[in-house]
Amino acid sequence: MISSRPTARPGSPATAYVDLGAIEANVRAVQARAPGSALMVVVKADAYGHGLLPVARAARRAGAGWIGVAQLPEAISLRDNGVDGRVLAWLAVPGADFAGCLERDIDLGVSATWALAEIAAAARHTGRTARVHLKVDSGLGRGGAYAAGFTDLLGAAARATREGTVQVVGVWSHLACADEPGHPSIRLQQAVFEAAVAEAERAGCSLEVRHLANSAATLTDPSLHYDLVRVGIAGYGLSPGPGVGDHTAYGLTPAMTLVARLSLVKDVPEGQGVSYGHSYTTPRATRLGLVPVGYGDGIPRNASNVGPLAVAGQRHRIAGRVCMDQVVVDLGPGSQAQAGDEVVIFGTGAAGEPTANEWAVSTGTISYEIVTRLGPRVERVYVGAQEVS
Ligand SMILES: *Cc1c(COP(=O)(O)O)cnc(C)c1O
Repeated sequence: MISSRPTARPGSPATAYVDLGAIEANVRAVQARAPGSALMVVVKADAYGHGLLPVARAARRAGAGWIGVAQLPEAISLRDNGVDGRVLAWLAVPGADFAGCLERDIDLGVSATWALAEIAAAARHTGRTARVHLKVDSGLGRGGAYAAGFTDLLGAAARATREGTVQVVGVWSHLACADEPGHPSIRLQQAVFEAAVAEAERAGCSLEVRHLANSAATLTDPSLHYDLVRVGIAGYGLSPGPGVGDHTAYGLTPAMTLVARLSLVKDVPEGQGVSYGHSYTTPRATRLGLVPVGYGDGIPRNASNVGPLAVAGQRHRIAGRVCMDQVVVDLGPGSQAQAGDEVVIFGTGAAGEPTANEWAVSTGTISYEIVTRLGPRVERVYVGAQEVS
């Protein structure tokens, strides 16, 4: 396992190093906090920008029994690239490829009777019984069947079960405020969830997995763990939010380090406006450096004049506006920086570099968005794996 970060790839404008060893260690650390529950690692949205397949394989190596994704094509891509074990996908629209999922032995989350009808039809067509997880909206006000809608869903599931097309293996829900431990909505949602589980059991479902917890709930409240916990952000080594605490409090290591190389340096006098709109003006004669990443790569435009970065171990803030392809940094008078020098945009923080969390705080968002929004021009390089397949 490589423990230290390699330097930026020569010739590559921007590289996101993804430490698969850190992901494996994070998955094990999270599992140790939920020893009585199965663990699902959530790899939707290209594994929060870290790379669907390498992360899914790392999760399996670390012992995760389940992989979770939102969209059906994400699940299909996992299977078609050799990822086995249990896979759950939960977000679809009418006409989605449920048959393709059943052919690939993918579990399906179901929030509505239209989906159950399409899944039952796909089961008839493929000759495969669908394993479904009925989702109750316990108060998030987003996905899941709400109130009497869940009873309707159970009724439809019972009919499909008698027909042999569907097997209800799970009842599940999602929390609104798990990242604010003690928030009153958590206990209210838990009560609605438990009532839905009891209703499903009375209706004859023999449930394999009841699941409610995301990363925040998994890290902070064992009473929410049930049979399975669904963990996304913690697996990537990031805290779900300030109310949960810093990642270090849970023994997690941020897996992604984003580095770039200066494409140009130049000495300018005091009073030079910098980048579009001249929202930054050099306060003194200084050296400017051009960093070849911009909002086209996922650097938030509202990081203008605030986004932190490090050059040669020295911290700076972005000078002026974030552009589509580049940002400027004021390297200071006397800087010896040269084109080709490495710029650390965020990393683990262990060497004093900025973190994704710091980027989130300085741009008014959450670390999830900082890593997930990185664009395809940013090359992903995998390090730290026992084996990269
Ligand atoms: C994304 C997602 C998760 C994972 O959430 P984290 O906060 O990243 O742990 C769990 N469950 C559902 C339904 C999700 O959409």
